Formats: sequence, C-alpha cells, structure tokens
Amino acid sequence: MTGIQVGGHVSSSGGIWKAIERAQAIEAEAVQIFIAAPQGWRATNHTPEGIARFREDHAASGIGEVWIHNIYLANLAAVEAEQLEKSVASVVNALTIGQAIGAQGVVLHTGSHRGAGFEAVQAQVVGAIQRILAEAPGDTFLALETMAGQGGSIGTRFEELGALIGAVKSPRLKVCLDTCHTFAAGYEIHTAEGLEIAMREFDAAIGLELLAVVHANDSKMPLASLRDRHENIGDGYLGAAAFEVMCAHPAFQNKAFLLEVPGIPTDAFPKGDGPDLENINRLKAIRDVAEMSSKSAKPAKVRR
Ligand SMILES: [Zn+2]
Ligand SMILES: [Zn+2]
Repeated sequence: MTGIQVGGHVSSSGGIWKAIERAQAIEAEAVQIFIAAPQGWRATNHTPEGIARFREDHAASGIGEVWIHNIYLANLAAVEAEQLEKSVASVVNALTIGQAIGAQGVVLHTGSHRGAGFEAVQAQVVGAIQRILAEAPGDTFLALETMAGQGGSIGTRFEELGALIGAVKSPRLKVCLDTCHTFAAGYEIHTAEGLEIAMREFDAAIGLELLAVVHANDSKMPLASLRDRHENIGDGYLGAAAFEVMCAHPAFQNKAFLLEVPGIPTDAFPKGDGPDLENINRLKAIRDVAEMSSKSAKPAKVRR
C-alpha cells in the first residue's frame, strides 16, 4: 500500500465548487485550488451557497484531500508594513475559507528576504505566522512550501522551514514538499540514495511527521539550478525514476501528490492545459507499481 492520492491543481473560476468537476474530469484523487486570483490582492467573495455546494460536490465525488494554494503576492518577510498586512490578511482569508470548505490546509510560499538573508527576517516571519494562526482559528493546516531558491525565497533549505516551525510551535504548521523546487534547490531526490539522504536531512531539520502534502512536478531545470520551472511528469530532469523512488519511500506514503505541471501540448492547447489526465495517469501508473511491489514484498501473514 502506498495510500498516495494522485491529484492536481485545478481552476476554481466561475464558482469554487466548479473545481470539483474539473478535478473529476482529470480523474484526480485530491485537489488544490486558488480561492482568489494568485497575482492579485483582491479577495474573491465566496458565498455561503458556493461553499455549501463545494462541500456537497466534494463529498459526492470520492475525491480525497483538498488544499488551497495561497496567492503568490504574499510575502511574510515584506519590509513594507502595508505589504506585510495584506500578506497576513491573504493567509487568514485562505485558512478561513479552507476551514469552511473542509480543506486539509493552505499551502504558502512563505516569502522572500530579497537578499537581506533569512536571519534578518526570521523573527518577523515567526510573528506573522503566529498572528495568522491566531486570527484564523480552527484545525486547517498551514503548510510552508519548499522553494527553489529564486530571489531570496525562504524555504530553499529545510533548515529555514525547521527554524520557523520550531519557533512558532503550532500543531497546525506543516510542510509542503515541492519536488521540482527541492531538486532545483540542490537536493538529489531523483535517486534512491539521494532521496534517502535528503529525507534524513528533512527529518533532522523539520521532522518527517510534519510533511503534510507533496507538489509533484518534474523540473525543466537541472539539479541545483535554483530555477523554478515545472515540467510534465517524466519529461524533465527528475524523470519517472525520481517519482518511482518517492512513491516507494516511507516518508511519502499516504500523502496527496498534487500536480502543478504545464500539461501535454495538444492542438487545442499548444502550450498544454495542465495538470491533465495524461500527467495524472503517468503518476498513477508509477504509484500503482510501487503499491504492487510493496504488496509482493510483504512477508506472509503469521498464523496465531
Ligand atoms: Zn508548488
Ligand atoms: Zn514552482
């Protein structure tokens, strides 16, 4: 058993509940959505009816975990007070909606120190996360995402996320591991040996039990490129073998693997319309092989 749910990020435009039918169209087993336009500050008004319909459609769909990705503009390390306030408000809003729709949690790009260094912004970020969790009560998780290292992004090293989580001290604070970002940041997760070393580092810095969700993306850029460019599953520098070793690794069992990939080009969508069914099927096939080999490797049941 892997218990891995293969899902993807889908659009929620036109009504939050529409995400469920879009997820079903690509046979996703878990889903991630934006609850507001990711490049803007304006919060979308989600009506009680829309939220109720989401919950109903989700319950009827058989789809597992629901995650919200916070807007990209948020930066908990922002120097400008107004930007910091808007950032905090965006995460509070996402957690509040997440609680209402029954989401597992909110995935957050913690922010960027813009060259000032992690230590310079650490205390501010810790304070901001504590405020967010206090202002958005409930049990919805906040998962800080591992980052590729562009533009002084926080979370490029596991130690940074570990330091924040250790200081905030909340059971709601978790980690989202993005396979493309983590590889671009220099962790050799594409081989069994490299993955084992990386996950030991994760365990020492953060704690494996805090890994809550995975962004499953191949990478257009090589190891340690520090560049965040997602590729379709199997077509990038990670390759299918990387996902094979991850699906077989104990740290990743029972996690939702959410695709954020460009999609396979078609006549209708020359640049792809991902995550698409083809990418979902590629990862499901890899997951299913890991599941089969784990079953056949199991020792025979001991009779009492
Ligand atoms: Zn991601
Ligand atoms: Zn990315």
